[in-house]
Amino acid sequence: MHEVLAPSPERVPVAMGRVRLFDHALGAYLGLALGDALGATVEFMTAREIAHHHGVHRDITGGGWLRLKAGQVTDDTTMCLALGGALLRGAREGRPFDAGLMAEAFATWWRAKPVDCGNTCRRGIVRYLSDGSLLAPPNEGDGGNGALMRNLPVALATLGRPQALRSVSIAQAHITHNHPLSDAATVAFGQMLHVLLTHPEPQHALPACQAMAQDLVAACPQFSYEPYPGRATAYVVDTVQTVLHHFFAATDFESAVVGAVNQGDDADTTGALVGMLAGARFGAQALPKRWLNKLDRSVRLAVTEQTSALLALALAP
Ligand code: MN
Ligand code: MN
Repeated sequence: MHEVLAPSPERVPVAMGRVRLFDHALGAYLGLALGDALGATVEFMTAREIAHHHGVHRDITGGGWLRLKAGQVTDDTTMCLALGGALLRGAREGRPFDAGLMAEAFATWWRAKPVDCGNTCRRGIVRYLSDGSLLAPPNEGDGGNGALMRNLPVALATLGRPQALRSVSIAQAHITHNHPLSDAATVAFGQMLHVLLTHPEPQHALPACQAMAQDLVAACPQFSYEPYPGRATAYVVDTVQTVLHHFFAATDFESAVVGAVNQGDDADTTGALVGMLAGARFGAQALPKRWLNKLDRSVRLAVTEQTSALLALALAP
């Protein structure tokens, strides 16, 4: 089993407490899985179609274009689990943050015939399998959200280590997506997770997170999300705008996720990312019980175990 979390005052402030850290990190990971499971039902529908068929879509029912069972998750969650597994394996084998292990984990995930795989992810994995390269060539068409959606385990494993967050995020991203806007969003969301999880004064975490979103928009004005343009496609700009708009507009976990997925389009991914941020903000205790009860049990167990193991890695001396 996983080692007990050890305090490491120089890296993660102990003031916020390890119980709170675990609850909020678990909230982020389970929140991602719940948003994925909720949103997959309405992926690729328009907001109008959702309103016509569901009114407001707010219950985990499965179905959708992937014909999922209620509580089943898709690539958003399972690629996170694959990447997290690679980070843990690297630590065990004395190869910390080895991008080769990450690529191998994506390939293993892909060979197991996942229910869904984005085009850019597939192209990157096929390239790795054919030539062993860990770096997708820069490509204007690689501005999808596939690297962003799977970066949560990197943020957990690098808590308290901002340089490692940046370098490992970009290394995992570039296996499939080599695009400056994907890079910027992937690193920025990781930084937001860090501040939501480890701010020494939790009541100031949200304003600090908001300041980071403003920094992202200042660096890349394409991401400007107020006024909200209303597009929720898999283009990383549309995804970031939808996620930030609904995350900052909501005052509770459920309404944040429901708001994002009812925009439709890449609803499982926007739902996953809002669920991740809102879960980090409110903690696992605040997740809707009726959603947790629906979530695939093996996913719930894998997410819980991996959260614990990645935090142990981050807090290890
Ligand atoms: Mn998906
Ligand atoms: Mn998706």
